[in-house]
Amino acid sequence: MRYGAMNETYKTKHYEDATVYKKHSTPIVHYAKPSITDLEKKYVLDAVTNGWGAHCYKYVEQLEKEFAGYIGTKYAIATSSCTGALTLGLAAAGMNAKRIMLADINWIATLAPVLHLHNIPMLTDIDPINWCIDHGPTTEDPDVIIATHLYGNLCDMEKLLNYSELSNVPIIEDAAEALGSEYNGKKAGSMGLFGVFSFHGTKTMTTGEGGMLVTNDEALYNKALTLSNHGRNPKETRMFWPKTIGYKFKMSNLQAAMGCAQLERIDKLVDRKREIFYTYRHLLEGLPISMNPEPSHTKNSYWMPTIVFDYETCIAKEHAISSLSNVNVDARPFFWPLSMLPIPEIIAYSFTSKHHNKNAYSISARGVNLPNYYDMTDADIKLITDTIKKLVEEI
Ligand SMILES: *Cc1c(COP(=O)(O)O)cnc(C)c1O
Repeated sequence: MRYGAMNETYKTKHYEDATVYKKHSTPIVHYAKPSITDLEKKYVLDAVTNGWGAHCYKYVEQLEKEFAGYIGTKYAIATSSCTGALTLGLAAAGMNAKRIMLADINWIATLAPVLHLHNIPMLTDIDPINWCIDHGPTTEDPDVIIATHLYGNLCDMEKLLNYSELSNVPIIEDAAEALGSEYNGKKAGSMGLFGVFSFHGTKTMTTGEGGMLVTNDEALYNKALTLSNHGRNPKETRMFWPKTIGYKFKMSNLQAAMGCAQLERIDKLVDRKREIFYTYRHLLEGLPISMNPEPSHTKNSYWMPTIVFDYETCIAKEHAISSLSNVNVDARPFFWPLSMLPIPEIIAYSFTSKHHNKNAYSISARGVNLPNYYDMTDADIKLITDTIKKLVEEI
């Protein structure tokens, strides 16, 4: 399947074509898969055996402390998911009926908490090189910006933080896909008002389901802690005495035990992501594609090696994904622009986005995420790169 001009017909066709993405019954090469060793098993077995009563938060407290240490923030709160962490952080920051700017290219998990808390999303275009938010000129300033570091790539933090300083608009980092990425020596997630991470089974480090909120802001931390525990202030001496309506987004001690083991191995997990990316890049050298960038002042943890076919190739992501599927490789489509989704709450805000977010629409149509997990082999990678080479030769 090829495409021509970037017109309305093409966009509509894409949406209908979404039905071609079926779950594979027997993929040989998965798109993501956790790396589980004896260490994870040992900690989880200890938690399930001994982690009750007086020890029921032992691993949760350990994970929060060690994670904050790894990211380089003062505080961390373990949560049941990244979506929960973002909801908690936005609520603690008083985000209600505010204008929240985020990239049109994002997973729905970043937008849903914005809408649940009754904020107004401003969906902006993406940078053509790093595929993250491009905060260009706008007619009105947002109240806050959510900077999502896509596929391990970093947003242009210098530009965003300069803007933030001049305008007093806080930056929130969704670093779910960028655990281990660095900007000027600082870890993704540590540079804004707060940062959030996901430990879903497909992410660089996993607890099955889980997430984390990190911050250096003491007031925000205390508010988030109270909200995360059904509105109970940790200093309150009376039992069962909430002072506000909060949330229940806690991580269990069992999940935290697994997280502690994964965090002990984090350098290995990130190094392996980078090694696999280099192998892809080497084998795909010279093809008319672009891949995740790594500007000189950054480190990319390459959660998802992603290829974007040059516009002139006329190769659509569906075509590449179905070719890979034919050799039992589970590749994934670049996120759809949020403004393209048939969701009423989004449509209400997305009309201008469709016409202005040219990079989002164009790059999404040509982008494919390639498998990247600890135990994949060089032969797996070669099967994938050979398939992509063949596709390009056919044009
Ligand atoms: C995975 C992901 C999330 C959601 O994480 P959950 O733990 O599933 O809630 C949010 N934002 C981004 C960018 C993600 O990739």
